[in-house]
Amino acid sequence: MQKLASLIRAVPDFPTPGIVFRDVTPLLADAGEFARCIALLAEPWRDARVQAVCAIEARGFIFGAALATALGAGFVPLRKPGKLPPPVVAVDYELEYARDRLEAREGALRAGERVLIADDVLATGGTLCAARALVERLGATVLGASVLIELAALPGRARWGNAPLHALLSY
Ligand code: IMP
Repeated sequence: MQKLASLIRAVPDFPTPGIVFRDVTPLLADAGEFARCIALLAEPWRDARVQAVCAIEARGFIFGAALATALGAGFVPLRKPGKLPPPVVAVDYELEYARDRLEAREGALRAGERVLIADDVLATGGTLCAARALVERLGATVLGASVLIELAALPGRARWGNAPLHALLSY
């Protein structure tokens, strides 16, 4: 895990002063460690009969699509507003100083389909919880979530609640 962690760059004061941004692009560029990272993300879900991985635009797509392949599951993108052609199903959610929206294609998931949600970073948990609400609105069943990085000083995990949540790295 140390090699993997060494490939996450901490960038102080980005995108705003006081924020330490975790940049995953050095990890993505390392063929061996990226493959290992996907295998480790998939590990807890091997026997969970995941049918679809839903991931959040944009960095979540990178991990989510690879994870779907590793688990033999389909991939369903949860997108920022205005990117998907209609008809879409949407969920609005609060950010610290703004509102945002996630959209998915109407009918993208079957009723009761077994879904794993994936993203790169869990911070306040607003995005992951909105993703869960959207998947549920589509009628599917959320098994849990998988993230590369959890920012443990923030309330993301508490906000997510009791459903399974696996993070490879915690800061
Ligand atoms: P939350 O909604 O506050 O949990 O923020 C999580 C979302 O913001 C995820 O979709 C991440 O892609 C993004 N995010 C938050 N902090 C970071 C970071 O340090 N590096 C990369 N993405 C981040």
